[in-house]
Amino acid sequence: MSNTPKLSELAANPSCMDDYDPNAMSVAQARSFIRQFLDPVMETETLSLQASLGRVLATDIISPCNVPNHNNSAMDGYAFKYAEGIKVAKIIGTAYAGRPFKGMVKTGECVRIMTGAVIPQGANTVVMQEHVAIKSDSITLLELPKSGANVRLAGEDLKLGQIVLAKGQPLKPADIGLVASLGIGEVTVFCKLKAAFFSTGDELVSVGQPLQEGQIYDSNRYTLFGMLARLGVDISDLGNVPDDPQLLENTLLEAARTHDVVITSGGVSVGEADYMKALLAKHGEVLFWKINMKPGRPLAYGKIEDAHYFGLPGNPVSAMVTFYQFVQPALKALSGTAFETPVLLQARCIDPLKKAPGRMEFQRGILFLAEDGTYQVKTTGNQGSGILSSMSVANCFIVLDESTGNCTPGQMVNVQLLQGIL
Ligand code: AMP
Ligand code: MG
Repeated sequence: MSNTPKLSELAANPSCMDDYDPNAMSVAQARSFIRQFLDPVMETETLSLQASLGRVLATDIISPCNVPNHNNSAMDGYAFKYAEGIKVAKIIGTAYAGRPFKGMVKTGECVRIMTGAVIPQGANTVVMQEHVAIKSDSITLLELPKSGANVRLAGEDLKLGQIVLAKGQPLKPADIGLVASLGIGEVTVFCKLKAAFFSTGDELVSVGQPLQEGQIYDSNRYTLFGMLARLGVDISDLGNVPDDPQLLENTLLEAARTHDVVITSGGVSVGEADYMKALLAKHGEVLFWKINMKPGRPLAYGKIEDAHYFGLPGNPVSAMVTFYQFVQPALKALSGTAFETPVLLQARCIDPLKKAPGRMEFQRGILFLAEDGTYQVKTTGNQGSGILSSMSVANCFIVLDESTGNCTPGQMVNVQLLQGIL
């Protein structure tokens, strides 16, 4: 899609591109369009290692030293100079982690050595203490290890001058440990994205207030809060805004002026939603897509002033599915990391699944370890786009391609996990 026009051209004139049909977008196409219009945050700040967990590196980290910075023992045992057929060695001292043996080890001599202690000069091999017999001040080698055995070499983890972590890397627990192993205590990261969200709909009531007939509690406000909080962005919860053009306009513009990203739920489906659509058309460069997916069909994406805008469907499951498929990867990219396409795994589905060809479906599933040792998946049941409990019990999406029809028990399917261990 190298010939993709600018967002403004596409928003003003959807027919300006041959293969662009806002009424029949595939999930991959929509993702690919969004990806091209993202302009990541540029501001940076310098933080302590602990504070940088989960943040995105704004510079490469170059190793100022070798890690480990000297050859050291991988075992408790005896360090000696390897020689073919060697049987006995005289103990001439001890090397502790942090307290090296200062002398020289000659052929026929050895040093008692602890794990992590520097290999003494002259020695090149460590024999495990379990493989020796000690007699007064000598050891007898019951097994001769290979030359160089049980020695961890200087620089085997990280080498002086190498790029240890690249700009754009989101910092995991292992990463901040790695940076600490270099003796570096502070890193420069991109500033957090500022994201604002609000729900729209006259029928919505905030938790804590009684429900009148026909009203429902605003649950998207909480799922959105949760999904955004997991991404580590700065969140402004602007509450729920009734379907009132003036209120919607004020909230939208104020949010766009003070945030990098604005997300709304509800009000972008066909028929209703006229206020929101008209407002978006008036103030921004916004694309309205009917995506070939279920749930989550209508999606609005674009820019209002300088803020990126995502208009999610109101149905609670649709809002979440759309968020995970489009907003989450986009926000990660806006935060300075590479744009990631979701990872899919394969599992055997034990249930029949209803699916009509035409749209890509994100059914809610439960992946489990079966008795035969393989991972299998089952459905959560009712797949209605208002059944939020399906998202609560699910641990994965069962991702069924546009062309797929009904799924019979035993068929292999793609799944997208909802959680990772890091
Ligand atoms: P809409 O996209 O505004 O047409 O809404 C579609 C459906 O989702 C309707 O049944 C709404 O009542 C429901 N809905 C919209 N917003 C929310 C919300 N914030 N929390 C729970 N349900 C919602
Ligand atoms: Mg609505």
